[in-house]
Amino acid sequence: MTITGCLENCCHTETQDIALVPSYRELEGQQVFGFNVLVGGKQGSGGYTPAKALDVFVRKEEAARLCAEIVRIFRDCGSRESRTRARLAFLLQDRGVRWFRQELERRWGKPLHAAGPELRKKHHTDHLGIQPQKRPPDYHGPQLFSVGLLVPVGRITTDQMRGVADLAERYGNGEIRLTVQQNIIIPNIPEDRLGALTEEPLLKELPVDPSPILRGLVCCTGNDYCHFALIDTKGWALKVARELERRTQGQKIAPLTIHMSGCPAGCGLHQVATIGLQGCRTRIGEEIVDAAHVYINGKSGPQPQIATDAMYDVPCEQLADALEPLVRFLPRS
Ligand code: SF4
Repeated sequence: MTITGCLENCCHTETQDIALVPSYRELEGQQVFGFNVLVGGKQGSGGYTPAKALDVFVRKEEAARLCAEIVRIFRDCGSRESRTRARLAFLLQDRGVRWFRQELERRWGKPLHAAGPELRKKHHTDHLGIQPQKRPPDYHGPQLFSVGLLVPVGRITTDQMRGVADLAERYGNGEIRLTVQQNIIIPNIPEDRLGALTEEPLLKELPVDPSPILRGLVCCTGNDYCHFALIDTKGWALKVARELERRTQGQKIAPLTIHMSGCPAGCGLHQVATIGLQGCRTRIGEEIVDAAHVYINGKSGPQPQIATDAMYDVPCEQLADALEPLVRFLPRS
């Protein structure tokens, strides 16, 4: 489940069973902010199915109760026969969105509000770099900034994590946030402290302004800790990304995301990236080697798009060769 209240479209909302996205309605003569409701998204179990809009708006204070009713519909009517069909997406596929909305309204006990306007931006924001913060209504101090640090493939050492905590205490108010793209944000930094922060040695390892290739790199756990993994996703992704960085140094590369999953379950959300990689194993002569299937131009957000299959069984040793033309020339959608 994903809940997003801001307009930056930084969550991959459409990949989730239940998704709440920001909206508003005029109700009883007042503008009321709340959520539009989507249901039935998934990544694994047969691939990406974007969540479907239910044409329902819910007030913030009623959102938890509405989600509980959605879960109860799945509990009462969803499939129990096979683990791979135990997803809301299959119930929607079998019974349809219209039936689901009617069933939800019946359980809700009163008419549901129709959805309000979509407020999210078309493109994702990754929160890296230096960003001015919104001022809370009761805050009257100096402008504060957030600083987003790239954690390459989301892998951080204990020393680096202690270093980030130290920076948060010295420059901010001790808070640290984590992003959907596996990176770190240090919020609440006054403007006159930004220069010193960006000179800190740790920011050479966790940069604020990485290359476009590392910037959008996201990876599932891989075989470090997941027994479903077919390959070492993080190790390969980093190796390939560094090679692509080297090959494209000095060239203008349009923003892109590269997501890698170690198996069809798709925890790395490879179906919603500019370039998606799904780990596999393939035979070369007598040898079985690490490889990846390649997908392009998948998208979540207000205009979701199922990725196109581009290449199968590319040996990881040749991935940089296969991806270089895509990184340089693939039109971004
Ligand atoms: S995508 Fe597969 S390998 Fe990666 S974390 Fe999920 S289940 Fe494990």
